[in-house]
Amino acid sequence: NNEALDDASIAATAHLKPIAEIAAAAGVPDEALEPYGRHQGKIDVACLGGGEPTGAVVLVSAMSPTPAGEGKSTVTVGLGDALAAAGHRTMIALREPSLGPVFGLKGGATGGGNAQIVPMVSINLHFTGDFHAITSANNLLAAMVDNHLHHGNALDLDPESISFKRVLDVNDRALRRIRLDSGGGRETGFDITAASEVMAVLCLARDMGDLKARLGRITVGFTRSGLPVTAGDLEASGAMAMLLRDALKPNLVQTIAGTPALVHGGPFANIAHGCNSAIATDTARRLADVVVTEAGFGADLGAEKFLDIKARAADCAPTVVVLVATVRALKMHGGRDKADLAGSDPTAVAAGLPNLARHVRNVRRYGYEPVVALNRFGTDGDEELAVVENYCADNGVRCAITEVHARGAAGGAELARHVGALLGQTPSYRGIYPPGADVEEQIEAIVRQVYGGDGVEFAPEARAQLERIRAHGWERLPVCIAKTQYSFSDDPSLLGAPSGFTVRVRELVPKTGAGFVVALTGTVMTMPGLPAAPAAERMDVHDDGTVAGLF
Ligand code: ADP
Repeated sequence: NNEALDDASIAATAHLKPIAEIAAAAGVPDEALEPYGRHQGKIDVACLGGGEPTGAVVLVSAMSPTPAGEGKSTVTVGLGDALAAAGHRTMIALREPSLGPVFGLKGGATGGGNAQIVPMVSINLHFTGDFHAITSANNLLAAMVDNHLHHGNALDLDPESISFKRVLDVNDRALRRIRLDSGGGRETGFDITAASEVMAVLCLARDMGDLKARLGRITVGFTRSGLPVTAGDLEASGAMAMLLRDALKPNLVQTIAGTPALVHGGPFANIAHGCNSAIATDTARRLADVVVTEAGFGADLGAEKFLDIKARAADCAPTVVVLVATVRALKMHGGRDKADLAGSDPTAVAAGLPNLARHVRNVRRYGYEPVVALNRFGTDGDEELAVVENYCADNGVRCAITEVHARGAAGGAELARHVGALLGQTPSYRGIYPPGADVEEQIEAIVRQVYGGDGVEFAPEARAQLERIRAHGWERLPVCIAKTQYSFSDDPSLLGAPSGFTVRVRELVPKTGAGFVVALTGTVMTMPGLPAAPAAERMDVHDDGTVAGLF
């Protein structure tokens, strides 16, 4: 029992197996493994041989979170370990961490306590270089756009219409708006790499051919007569795909219990589509019977996008949906100040239940009976936990107190039993909107049925963009809503289960390479900023190379 140790110490003392051993046990043939050091490897999917993607997908999502996160990655890893311990042939599929949250507020994304993927320092920092490759491919296209303007603009690209931005994997609010020293001094800005279309393209592509085709379809802007100009028109997509050659291969690592995990792609769920690559999910489903995967933030964001975008595009509807809940998030939704969630307060827990209940209702609307994983923290009182257990019992919701952070696989045994009991069923997925619905109908359906709002209001600019989207025949692409993770609404201060609100769409940006339309709501930013006291201030590396303060 390592309960007293911090995440980094547990990870540092874990006994890691050579990656070739993990690969062999997972059924990856030797020729398909490309080792990156001793404990990481990429999988060359073309060398995997036959095998259909038949593994059942277990999707782990959550109630609306506190700024610290409710333990989705932790529960995903712990549930994977617990299912493996129970004899299921299991693989975990997770996103790669972004340096933005690592150095900002939220920390890394390798789980915690005794439910972690390792080597955690490497995975949280540069890993196998995928984020750098994505950043480079994106910025190559951006440079080629402005180079095209500089050298005579043969395509007659209207500089004012260019929506394609540069990216960086750092939270740097100073770069949100910049004025270039070329292109007539046009205004543009940086997004964070996790929000980039190239990231989404990498995560939705099925193979190299599809990657190249999607990159070629990226719309960078419009000609002066209103026709789209693509990366293909600029002849950039071949070089971009070349830069992504290795990044397209999923990364294999292990949990501290030795369960294989594919960690690949990293779009955020608030400002992007929020789940690991389709190739990783597909590969895991070919190798294992059960694939445990995570969708970012609350189920209104990550799960909605997994179910409405990824499950349809990559044909991977989940068999089971897990909702992570915590006593501390319930207390916050029940009115307690998020800076003061310590101390037993069953009344506040009860007052926060409507938030969890709305997520339960939503998952049911998609055709699933969710399993609530009540992620237990050492500070949770028994009375507080009982409030949640009673709510679940009264409403026919499966619930398991989950202690994978403190106890590893053993702490997830009950959750694994609930999930295991549901694995035999065929996916009962139904979408919130019918395939082929118009962008406006999709947003209305998500706002009314998932968020619980009264309707949608389009800013004049978004209205004009909607007309343009229709004129180009893109109106049936799925919508990817960028919204705060803290509230069902677009106002982060409306906690619990708000009603009577309208969601304001300020911009609609067609991402024709990814194959969706991004709807920006509220004040959510595609380039986050660092907090007043960034986690980076508490980090260091010692003379022997060990790191301090990563978590
Ligand atoms: P999410 O994926 O929901 O953002 P994470 O799994 O990354 O959340 O967890 C966020 C942080 O909370 C991590 O530092 C993790 O170690 C910690 N954590 C998660 N579950 C527990 C728990 N039950 N007890 C203590 N700390 C926890």
